[in-house]
Amino acid sequence: MSGADHLNRDELDRDRYWLGIACDLARLCPPSRTAFSVGAVIVSAEGEELARGYSRETDPHVHAEEAALAKLDPADPRLATATVYSSLEPCGRRKSRPRTCAELIIAAGIRRVVYAWREPAVFVEATGAARLAAAGVTLVEIGALADRARRPNAHLLDGPPGA
Ligand SMILES: [Zn+2]
Repeated sequence: MSGADHLNRDELDRDRYWLGIACDLARLCPPSRTAFSVGAVIVSAEGEELARGYSRETDPHVHAEEAALAKLDPADPRLATATVYSSLEPCGRRKSRPRTCAELIIAAGIRRVVYAWREPAVFVEATGAARLAAAGVTLVEIGALADRARRPNAHLLDGPPGA
């Protein structure tokens, strides 16, 4: 949990607001049996939305963070102080593309990531948070929104007993 990362109530309220939007965006994802439904929003330090995206938004393999980042100029100076809000921990391993979302976020120069749901080991072992932390990115996990992030993925999580 992450309460200590929050300097004040306003910051926590702002993080919950934007992370809630990211969780709701996940419901727009085209359904898949082989990948999570995730939403992401990139917000400037001034609280302005810079871009949003969701899984499979623009092609069958694009991830939410990747879709949002693709809408921005990589030279945008606001990225250095922006926050990525993602319903799911950004991926540190993926099967579909060579570059993970953790790598894309680091390459974009973004220094802060807020997420709701730690990636469960359904498809790959989760390593995204560790990769981001190793690169000096500040991570905030708001577990209070994890159920909202999981909901569009219930069909991937509720396997038969013992599976
Ligand atoms: Zn990803």
